[in-house]
Amino acid sequence: MGKAQKDMPVIGVDLDGVCADFYGRMREIAAEWFEQPLDALPGDVSYGLKEWGVSDEKQYESLHRYALNQRELFKTMPMIPGARKYLRKLSDEGYHIRIITHRLFIHYSHASAVQQTIAWLDGHGIPYWDLCFMKEKSEVGADIYVEDSPDNVIQLRKKGLYTICFANSTNKHIASPRAVSWSEVYDMVHAL
Ligand SMILES: [Mg+2]
Repeated sequence: MGKAQKDMPVIGVDLDGVCADFYGRMREIAAEWFEQPLDALPGDVSYGLKEWGVSDEKQYESLHRYALNQRELFKTMPMIPGARKYLRKLSDEGYHIRIITHRLFIHYSHASAVQQTIAWLDGHGIPYWDLCFMKEKSEVGADIYVEDSPDNVIQLRKKGLYTICFANSTNKHIASPRAVSWSEVYDMVHAL
């Protein structure tokens, strides 16, 4: 990993839906949970997973708890292609990579959430200087944010923070700047 330089921008990078294929892995686990064939669950899903039959917040939490505790969700998600390659390039160029994730979502499971996250980051060779478990992402300073959750993108942009929306089926309605791949994120960071 390169040395973070003082005058280089801090990139605040989200994990789920940006570095890790949250929806891909969650779809497999939800198919098990509902005892449905994988094909019965559409790949195009919106925030909250109602297309898979998740009816309310309580059920979402239940599924999430099962995924985390019984299926090691945060350890077993595939990496989104390009995340390692381009974060490494940016890090080597001196950009400061700050991971910002809202994964302490289920009470009393924080140890496994953090352990699975660290194991995943190391296992996939993702370079980073800081790892922040925060719901309010704007409270973590960063010059550029890479984020997929529609609400987070809207909130960050409202505060005047430059936020690249990492495109997936949950954020189709969100305006540019949007990136469909890590190579596009890389180019957008460079264009700033
Ligand atoms: Mg996310």
